[in-house]
Amino acid sequence: MLPAALRVDIDTLGDILALEPLLELLERLEVRASFFVAMGPDRCGRNLRNYLHQPWKLLNRELWRSHRLSHLLRSMLVAEHMEEHAESLHVLRELGHEAGLHGYDHYTWMRRAEKMSLQEAAQTISLGVAAFRQVFGHEPGSFASPGFRTSRSCLQALDSFGFSYASDFTGYRAFYPKFGDWRAETLQVPVCMLSPCELSSSDRAVLQELERQLERAESHFCFYIHPSREVHRLKLVERMLRRIESYGAELLTLAEIAERLKATSAVQEL
Ligand SMILES: [Zn+2]
Repeated sequence: MLPAALRVDIDTLGDILALEPLLELLERLEVRASFFVAMGPDRCGRNLRNYLHQPWKLLNRELWRSHRLSHLLRSMLVAEHMEEHAESLHVLRELGHEAGLHGYDHYTWMRRAEKMSLQEAAQTISLGVAAFRQVFGHEPGSFASPGFRTSRSCLQALDSFGFSYASDFTGYRAFYPKFGDWRAETLQVPVCMLSPCELSSSDRAVLQELERQLERAESHFCFYIHPSREVHRLKLVERMLRRIESYGAELLTLAEIAERLKATSAVQEL
């Protein structure tokens, strides 16, 4: 039976605020998901600067629906820290979901991951681990780099934290990264399919893509979403989860999938 998982990335306070309807859906479907929570300041409002050169793109209705205008503007003025919203995050564990670390300062990680030295990567992950502990009362068991941005330094730094696995890549098969004579101890469990909002505004197109990606899955299947961006497409998320089950796959957390794949996954040269 193909093991499958839903990964949910909590990048911003907007994602925390949009959690409730998603958690209700997962409870109703009796699905446990793997949530990856970014710690540190939420600087997502800075993304608005990207629109200064193409202001007409601000007229896109989806942008405002998905990012919550007031939240974006607020985060331009004050970068609130994700860990200040511990109460809303606690509920993830109470409902039996997996919670892992999605880096520290998501915005800065996306821009610096490829340039970070080993020391900077280790310091950044350390800050995330400390903030995560503050919220959940224990250290994170898993890691997913913001925006799938990683580097040799980041991968090497990860090994010193003893995560049971990481999810820093897209692909179809779990693997241990290797470059030169260095081999990672931390198993990588990739995401196999991008989020519906990244793929298409058409539900039909997303469901067709799901069929294609299920066929291509090798060691496991995993797709991911962001609560704030998919909040208006939860019916689609429900259809996707139901289809994964009717396909004959077994919905698990990524941590459970990693445990199954640890012993049999191969090394892959990067
Ligand atoms: Zn993210």
